[in-house]
Amino acid sequence: MKLFDTHCHLTDPPLAKDLDGVLQRAVSSGVEGFIVPGYDLVSSRTACRLASANPSIYAAIGLHPAWLTPASNFSPESFRQLARLRIPVAIGEIGLDYALKDYSVLPQTEVLRAQLELATILSLPVIIHCRRAFEPLFLILREFSGVVGVLHAYGGGPQLAEKFLSLGYYIGFGGGLTRPQARKVRETALMVPADRILLETDAPYIGSHTVAKGKSEPRDVLAVALALAGLRSWELAETAALTMANASRLFNLKERI
Ligand SMILES: [Zn+2]
Repeated sequence: MKLFDTHCHLTDPPLAKDLDGVLQRAVSSGVEGFIVPGYDLVSSRTACRLASANPSIYAAIGLHPAWLTPASNFSPESFRQLARLRIPVAIGEIGLDYALKDYSVLPQTEVLRAQLELATILSLPVIIHCRRAFEPLFLILREFSGVVGVLHAYGGGPQLAEKFLSLGYYIGFGGGLTRPQARKVRETALMVPADRILLETDAPYIGSHTVAKGKSEPRDVLAVALALAGLRSWELAETAALTMANASRLFNLKERI
């Protein structure tokens, strides 16, 4: 059985400090592949460095809306230069976050559009972060019909998911799915077509039913897979195989090996 964590921050302190241990524990849980998204230029560079040093790690590059400060001038050129190394498998994580304290709409939407343009030019999929902005997000993604990607750490209901599925997007399920009280997202996991589901942890940030926020590791993708398998009445091996195939298809991983 091979599981794949499509979203973990191996560049960040708790995990980066003990990377060998984190990877070993992941492998013992059957987790053998990892996508490490950047959230600004520095973390994107670090993700690329990790990916070039370890064949089971893949990098994504992007500017997350929470790292978009008034001072940070988004420069697509710096990201384009990183992408020229042919290491990144996706542009991400990018998106809209209207749950932030002092967010402003215009810079967020402009930077998202610029990064979707970059994804178009580079023919790369995108990893989308979204909080409280699904309507505007949908309208922007619809403008970029040549781009597909994943809605990461999806926590919404089936109706909303339907809209993004209609654009060709995948839905990324994380630790939220392991919580018995997470009714909406569990309902969504029941209706998403089998070939559009991805698994992730967003480690170390999003916890699960049994792991506290800030303490999760890629090995916890096993609990997400078990929750999904239980909901869909699938075998665990089948769940692993199809979500692995989905990740491989969306991120063109075969070409990278
Ligand atoms: Zn993340």
